[in-house]
Amino acid sequence: MATYNDDFTEIAHCGGQATFAVRCDEDGQMSIAAGFRGSSPTPMAMITVYATVPQGFPVSDVRMGGIGQAFEPPCPEGCMAVFLGSDSHGNWGHQCPRCHGYFRNGNHPAIYPLTCPYCGLKSHAFHFLTKAHARYIKHYISTYYEAIDADLKPGTEKEFIIDMDAIAKSGERENRPEFYYASESQQTRFNCQRCGEFNDIRGLYGYCASCGCRNNIAGLNEIFAQLRKGVVDKTTSPESVVSRAVSAFDASCRDMINQLKSRIPMKPARLKRLDRLIFHDVESTTIAEVKAAFEVDLLRGIDSQTVAFLRMMLERRHVYEHNAGVADERYVERSGDDSWRVGDLIRETEQNAHRLLSTLPIMAQNVHDDFHEIFPLTEWPVRYFEERTGRRKQKVWFRKEQSA
Ligand SMILES: [Zn+2]
Ligand SMILES: [Zn+2]
Repeated sequence: MATYNDDFTEIAHCGGQATFAVRCDEDGQMSIAAGFRGSSPTPMAMITVYATVPQGFPVSDVRMGGIGQAFEPPCPEGCMAVFLGSDSHGNWGHQCPRCHGYFRNGNHPAIYPLTCPYCGLKSHAFHFLTKAHARYIKHYISTYYEAIDADLKPGTEKEFIIDMDAIAKSGERENRPEFYYASESQQTRFNCQRCGEFNDIRGLYGYCASCGCRNNIAGLNEIFAQLRKGVVDKTTSPESVVSRAVSAFDASCRDMINQLKSRIPMKPARLKRLDRLIFHDVESTTIAEVKAAFEVDLLRGIDSQTVAFLRMMLERRHVYEHNAGVADERYVERSGDDSWRVGDLIRETEQNAHRLLSTLPIMAQNVHDDFHEIFPLTEWPVRYFEERTGRRKQKVWFRKEQSA
């Protein structure tokens, strides 16, 4: 049976019923009241957008006030308010209007902006409504028209219902109406370390859809914590920890550089050089190139002794990966380490593994900080969560467990 941890699995709509109550009073005057009722045991959240009538094009997000408070902004002429329910986890599926990437998160904000986790586009949340949402909005408006066209006798009333409950509960996949929308689980689910918001994205790394904060640091810290535990439990050899830590660091840095490449216009020659960057060699041109191109300074605040240690460990990674741990000429020449001769089997220490796991996060943080100076973060989600919860949300990072 599919579980929530599965990739690309449908998550049902939260259910509930959108209603249009039409009433014809004794004088023959017609009135209509739109509403929504829900009794689902699963989480349910509600948003409102304004859409044009009769076409059903969304034009604005709506901030719903409390009881008796007006919607903000006021409804534009030629539009009507449409209520949409979340998925049955209380989250929202979104699709980027630029890169078309699909993602879920815990908020469809009426406040600008929402951020695409994949391409970084910041835009109004209603721009991220999916095609399925658009079909529902059209159906909502056509049901409204059906209701106002109702032929009622004076003193009678009638309710028109869009029954999402019945469809969501039936579990029926075939023959269900086109206006039904559900969400789809992605691959990496995380609560943003900065604003606490839930995100579910394809792949591993991306921006928090709420505050725009890149999740690389949180992801790396999780990997490093597992590796650290492996050293302590003696379930992972120090050599393996070195290889895996550097590999994860390299992948995360290259992911950040790919974002810079795709978001900052540059000459083809620089693009080509950036394609070749690797982050597991202190001697390579990578660190200088990244600093010159973007003022991203990986080694900021790292003293020369630690740089020497990094040089040695990154060369050791090369030996563990490519020479079964046996020191070769390259190692002896480049590592600055004279404790091993060519042909010796390098014996890695737990102490070195721990030190490396403490040093790589400093470089990763440098990349993160400089990156977000270039691409500033959205402030309101942080305040929003502090106000709502009275504290910063607990840091959580989780993703689909790899099954054997
Ligand atoms: Zn995008
Ligand atoms: Zn965030």
